[in-house]
Amino acid sequence: MTRKLPAERFAAKVNPAGPLPLIRGVIGPCHLWEGSTNAAGYGTFWAGQSVKAHRFAYEQARGPIPTGLELDHRCRQRACVRVSHLDAVTHRVNILRSSNHVAHRAAVTQCPAGHPYDAANTYRAPNGTRKCRACNATRTRNTRAIKREAQLAAVTPLHPRTDPTLERAA
Ligand SMILES: [Zn+2]
Ligand SMILES: [Zn+2]
Repeated sequence: MTRKLPAERFAAKVNPAGPLPLIRGVIGPCHLWEGSTNAAGYGTFWAGQSVKAHRFAYEQARGPIPTGLELDHRCRQRACVRVSHLDAVTHRVNILRSSNHVAHRAAVTQCPAGHPYDAANTYRAPNGTRKCRACNATRTRNTRAIKREAQLAAVTPLHPRTDPTLERAA
């Protein structure tokens, strides 16, 4: 067996069909690391020593990360190793950017359909994101209506829709 290059072993653990971040300026889906991750959720990769997967990807593409800089995930997806989603920034900028992101999420006071995220209309998904009760109720109603229509369509009519005598004549 020929030994694979680190870059090949690396590529085999990347799923390029990750989620679309929906963040301004972040183009295309995340490339998710499917190898092992550390407790903080960053991918880890063995390249003679254990390195963070996103740092490895970045250095393969762009060269060494300058001393004093760290990589910011603009997509806010720690398991992402897509180089175009990464920026080498100072620690200060990195902290500022992530707190801006949290602040931005908190500043959104309406669901995408314009219902308020207030106490009465909001529930939390298991992952902690806010969900709209009004939209959820609409979805449930629509699903029921679709099921009802499907059931009605499955019922055989008592009288045939086409006139049997016409069919015989044809
Ligand atoms: Zn990403
Ligand atoms: Zn809504």
